[in-house]
Amino acid sequence: MQSLQGSILVVDDNAVIRQILKLSLEQNQHRVTLASNGQEAIELMEKHSYDLVLLDIIMPKMNGFQVLEYMTQVPELAQIPVIVISADSQIDNAIRCIQLGAEDYLVKPPNQTLLRTRVNASLRKKFLHDQQQAHQAEMERMYEAVKAANQAKTEFISMAAHELRNPLSQIATTNTLFRRVGTLNEKQTQLLDTVNFSLERMKALLVDLDDIARLETGNMRLEVQPLNLPELIYKVAESMQHDVITRHHSLTLHVPPDLPLVCADRQRMIQVLTNLVGNALKYTPDGGQITVTAVHNSQNHTVHVTVKDTGLGIQADEQSQIFSKFFRSDDAEVRARPGTGLGLYITKSLVEMQNGRIWFESNYGEGTEFHFTLAVAEGAVEAEMVQITAVTC
Ligand code: ADP
Repeated sequence: MQSLQGSILVVDDNAVIRQILKLSLEQNQHRVTLASNGQEAIELMEKHSYDLVLLDIIMPKMNGFQVLEYMTQVPELAQIPVIVISADSQIDNAIRCIQLGAEDYLVKPPNQTLLRTRVNASLRKKFLHDQQQAHQAEMERMYEAVKAANQAKTEFISMAAHELRNPLSQIATTNTLFRRVGTLNEKQTQLLDTVNFSLERMKALLVDLDDIARLETGNMRLEVQPLNLPELIYKVAESMQHDVITRHHSLTLHVPPDLPLVCADRQRMIQVLTNLVGNALKYTPDGGQITVTAVHNSQNHTVHVTVKDTGLGIQADEQSQIFSKFFRSDDAEVRARPGTGLGLYITKSLVEMQNGRIWFESNYGEGTEFHFTLAVAEGAVEAEMVQITAVTC
């Protein structure tokens, strides 16, 4: 086995033993420092770093037990392996030293082969431990660097979203004013409509970026209260009618009006439903069928909502990334539609912040079903049956 070279401190009050050990260790290319008692050894260890200590037990000023006890209390010294060198008759002392944290022991005067083998074994362990420590420190440093970069990115997103809001609303106002300064011809109206469309997309993007910054800084505040989910689903469906009609889709709702109230934030649920139904409309070729279903699951006290489409579907190898920030499919048909890849990330975070669960099933080329659940508000079911009004979240 390859022999290792280390920096070794030899502590013994017997000058002859010290010299024997020094010569023998130096023959194996170790760097050796000598100390004649425990106190001197501790002073040296506090100033220099050693890979191994060979320690006598019975010494003046500070004996081997005291040195070991001291070393266990100082984290940097506790890492240094110690081999105790004891006289044949002091085997009990050697055992006590092992109990105090010594790595191994040798009988005086040490047999050369045994000394070499045990020193090597201790050094190997020490170097492995040092490597692991260095690796751990490097991982911690990298983790801190990534955390700082992520923080800087979140701050930048938040600042950019905030700073872009004013110029954007000025462009929107100018766009509206243009239509009032005189009669516009067809081409001019068309151009202003294009500007308007782009403005709407930019505004939506800024809202998403703002939400991302809030989520990542823990500043997303939700007002969870008992909520009539069917009413919200009907409203969101109605707001999408224009899109449904122009794209020749059919949008069917299987949502009983008497579902129990759920615990959710009204505005954020509108956002969740708009994202899921909006995606179903967007990623379904014209003439598709979109179905929204909501059922009460009385066993686990939830309302389960499903948004199903007959659209493009999601490729199997992309499904694990669907809720990741900025993820958009590589599919050319998806890329042809506008999007940022932020909607589902925000949707998932919002559902989970409301103690819900979200998941999906999809077959590429056939369609996708998104599911989410929300907790039923406490007392909601009883309220329906015996007309109690105290419904809480
Ligand atoms: P965006 O729609 O802005 O790209 P989302 O986060 O809402 O962002 O969606 C992320 C990606 O998930 C989409 O780009 C698309 O690839 C895929 N996706 C989402 N909903 C559907 C769906 N109903 N059918 C097929 N693919 C979908």
